Amino acid sequence: MATPKNIVALTGGIGSGKSTVAGMFVERGVHLIDTDAIAHAISGVGGRAIAPICEVFGSEILARDGALDRTRMRARVFSDPDARRRLEKILHPMIRDEVAEALASNAAKGAPYVMLAVPLLFETMGYRGQIQLALVVDCPVRTQTERVMKRTGMPLTEVEAIITTQITRSLRLQLADDVVSNSGDLSNLLPQVLRLHEKYMSMSKTVQCT
Ligand code: ADP
Repeated sequence: MATPKNIVALTGGIGSGKSTVAGMFVERGVHLIDTDAIAHAISGVGGRAIAPICEVFGSEILARDGALDRTRMRARVFSDPDARRRLEKILHPMIRDEVAEALASNAAKGAPYVMLAVPLLFETMGYRGQIQLALVVDCPVRTQTERVMKRTGMPLTEVEAIITTQITRSLRLQLADDVVSNSGDLSNLLPQVLRLHEKYMSMSKTVQCT
């Protein structure tokens, strides 16, 4: 049976700090549904996206263990926008189904509200009807780039290529209902998260949405 919940979407550019911020909300009992984690699961070993991906891109796009070879796929879609669209056409509806299932399940029972992490929230707009508001994690593009290079070891050109497929920082900020600024030290995050958590807690007491 579905539990009525308020849903806050969490978004931001790659390396902005979404996972870091999401972790702070989870520590406060918020139920997180992470579309990135869902994408990994369905394109991992035995995942339901593997067969359709093979049909479109051939089995050479898989790693030895049968999971999607993400590095090879990334290289493919960045040199070919049509390939990217075809991949998204497979993944996005499956991810939406998984999100709907997660929302309808009892997993969020007892949580004050749900946080739905969608890196490309504004690019795809697929969740507009489901969310109450959009929280953006923000930092300068240069900081994003440095963090991703440090975290993944990806070369600058590859990180820049990913960033150019995402909407601009200024447009993202225009579309935000709330913003967590992650331009500085990690210690700046918690006070912002606490303030927003209080706001979302009081919203979930007064408004109940399915
Ligand atoms: P996203 O989920 O948006 O891609 P992450 O939360 O994974 O971003 O952060 C990207 C990387 O930057 C991680 O290695 C994380 O530990 C680090 N990071 C995040 N915020 C800060 C910060 N304020 N200062 C230093 N490093 C940070």
